[in-house]
Amino acid sequence: MRVPLLDLHEQLKPLREEIIAAVTEVIDSTTYIMGPKVEQLEREVASYSGAAHGIGVASGTDALLAVLMTIGVGPGDLVLTTPYTFFATMGCVLRLGARPLFVDIDPISYNLDPGLMEEALAADPDRTARIKAIIPVHLYGQCADMARIMAVADRYGIPVVEDAAQAIGAACPMPENGQVVWRRAGSLGLAGCFSFFPSKNLGGVGDGGMIVCQDADFAERVKIIRVHGGAPRYHHGVVGGNFRLDPIQAVVLSIKLAHLDSWHHQRRENAARYRRLFRESGLLENDLVTLPVAVYEAAAGAAGCRDYHIYNQFVIRASRRDELRTYLQAAGVGVEVYYPIPLHRQKCLAGLGYDELTYPTSEQAATQTLALPIYPELTAAAQEQVVASIAAFYAQGE
Ligand SMILES: *Cc1c(COP(=O)(O)O)cnc(C)c1O
Repeated sequence: MRVPLLDLHEQLKPLREEIIAAVTEVIDSTTYIMGPKVEQLEREVASYSGAAHGIGVASGTDALLAVLMTIGVGPGDLVLTTPYTFFATMGCVLRLGARPLFVDIDPISYNLDPGLMEEALAADPDRTARIKAIIPVHLYGQCADMARIMAVADRYGIPVVEDAAQAIGAACPMPENGQVVWRRAGSLGLAGCFSFFPSKNLGGVGDGGMIVCQDADFAERVKIIRVHGGAPRYHHGVVGGNFRLDPIQAVVLSIKLAHLDSWHHQRRENAARYRRLFRESGLLENDLVTLPVAVYEAAAGAAGCRDYHIYNQFVIRASRRDELRTYLQAAGVGVEVYYPIPLHRQKCLAGLGYDELTYPTSEQAATQTLALPIYPELTAAAQEQVVASIAAFYAQGE
């Protein structure tokens, strides 16, 4: 049996008729740009995330770009972020002529390390004055330590933009009036950015994205940036772009959003099953395989919150990772490395002063991590096969 990393057929099957009817309705309506279907999805995603406003855009990348443009990030500015993320997080910074200031990740969560962030901000006041935004990434479907990140960022007055592309619906504990409240990704910083790329937990039938935020004035400014900076139309006080979301994507995403919580739940069940299978396999005892840690699980359980992790990816650390990857691919098990090259090592930064910099935790993660299939419809038999194949690889020895 082949086990793909992701199989969207099973998700599509029960929704196919409804999706085709909704897409047909959009086509027959002849409203192909924006309109009520996009506005409906914006309200739904904002409400789902606990944010006041939603602004549909063409991709997660455009969400980040439009937010940074609205903040006014430009040449000479710095944006503090992690070197262990998808390229788009940094690509948007560079496209605006600004530069990333990297802070290494926490080795357990793979997310921005708030202690190192605090050190970096304190290290050089002149440099800190140039930081126009902080972008924590909620990697693999688990929120960064937003309580600490927000506290430090607020102290410095630097806006936080959440790259929540992999974490729609994931929650983390936030202190509020002496209590702890569980808040969802995207609702915590100045703005949150979602991606509806098909492999994300909420994926369209093509590209799509959304920005959510709490501030009405910021939402209005993002909406102007989304349409070339024209407000009113053909009057351009600022330069924006065409960052709009299609109503065809919006209707598909509205249909899927109703199922998102149950898909998250199935992914968590699959994660629990992997944990049991790996424990039984003996692979954990000699550190051949290290399982991902759901850092908020215990606290969430005590608080009755289910959304401590949405497992967009289930990422293990594996000894002899590259050999294991080749072995599994040959055995028909779909796996992937997110991400093999930390951003500070990317060629497009050559000559910009990043060559001597080192971020050891990110660099180590890049050599050890391996994402296993975790999609909601994955069967128990398929998971057994994944773990059996990994055990078979290590059983052959060096
Ligand atoms: C997917 C992703 C993006 C970009 O989203 P697109 O919709 O593909 O443009 C940005 N950041 C992270 C962390 C992502 O995983």
